[in-house]
Amino acid sequence: MKRINESFEPELSATVAETARSGWYLFGERVHGFERDFARYCGVEHCVGVGNGLDALTLIFMAYVSMGRLQKGDEVIVPANTYIASILAVMRAGLKPVLCEPEWETCNIDPARMEELVSERTKAIMVVHLYGRACRMDEVGDVARRRGLLVVEDCAQSHGACYKGKKTGALGDAAGFSFYPGKNLGALGDAGAVTTDDGALAERVRMLANYGSSAKYVHPYVGINSRLDELQAAVLHLKLSRLDEDNARRRDVAHRYMEGIRHPAVVLPRMEEDEEAHVFHIFTIFTPRREALQQHLAAHGVQSLVHYPIPPHRQGALAGYAGLSLPLTERIHREEVSLPMSPLLTAGEVGAVIEAVNTFCE
Ligand SMILES: *Cc1c(COP(=O)(O)O)cnc(C)c1O
Repeated sequence: MKRINESFEPELSATVAETARSGWYLFGERVHGFERDFARYCGVEHCVGVGNGLDALTLIFMAYVSMGRLQKGDEVIVPANTYIASILAVMRAGLKPVLCEPEWETCNIDPARMEELVSERTKAIMVVHLYGRACRMDEVGDVARRRGLLVVEDCAQSHGACYKGKKTGALGDAAGFSFYPGKNLGALGDAGAVTTDDGALAERVRMLANYGSSAKYVHPYVGINSRLDELQAAVLHLKLSRLDEDNARRRDVAHRYMEGIRHPAVVLPRMEEDEEAHVFHIFTIFTPRREALQQHLAAHGVQSLVHYPIPPHRQGALAGYAGLSLPLTERIHREEVSLPMSPLLTAGEVGAVIEAVNTFCE
């Protein structure tokens, strides 16, 4: 992250200093400017900046409940293999998450299984474009239309990814973004946004994010405090201008991994025919020998991570779900290893990672 943010100097520090000296820190022109341009970038009518990604998703569901489009206790189908924030957002709004298995090849929600889970109480679907790969939204949209369900996108890992020429964030009824520092578009701290074409929803999200107020000191709704500040907005606006270029560099790294890594115990991710469908927030490989591989990589100076070691239904926070059997989800959580991925990895570094993986032996 240091290397990435240094590559935006000297503009980054100048922007931060300018904002610090401006005397205006919330609800100002920098937030407006970023919201306008991020909406344009995604191809939607509205963007509402909020405090973080979890709040972005939570506020979407809170707004639907507040508007009467969802009722407390309604079921929302969510991927079983996601970062826990996706599921917490549903729970925080008083709704019931129903966990759905993914497709093994993409790790994204399986539209056929999703439809099997639709009940009388199901009112919405949340898709997560996991690792930066866009979900198959035609099929998801099909199920949603036939069953009359809302579609909410978790775009915390998919900034700039496209499905059939349309950006994630513009593929459902509403979408939540995270600008956590390590995301493809990252702030210098916490930040998030909601994107949607639904003006009434955007307005309600904006009110709920600001204490449920419609005007200063007037509070028709029970809201929270979750705001994008001027400093983060200024930083994000600057970094947005290079997002497509950075995503292209991530794809280059991914291609080199795909060409270079050859190992019988390592499964590489499936590449999409449509280049733009994956922005490689994370480059995943799978191996039943995870612990040994990670040790081998570490011994060769290569850091690796696991996204994520414990599936949500095995977490204490979701105690009621512990009895579920979700074999694909469990396999992903057992076998996934994330290799270094950044738009600024050098050819030498990528080569060293490939070499380290290929020389792994039991
Ligand atoms: C990062 C992330 C979030 C949460 O974003 P925060 O800004 O950290 O609250 C939600 N969902 C997914 C899939 C994420 O990766």
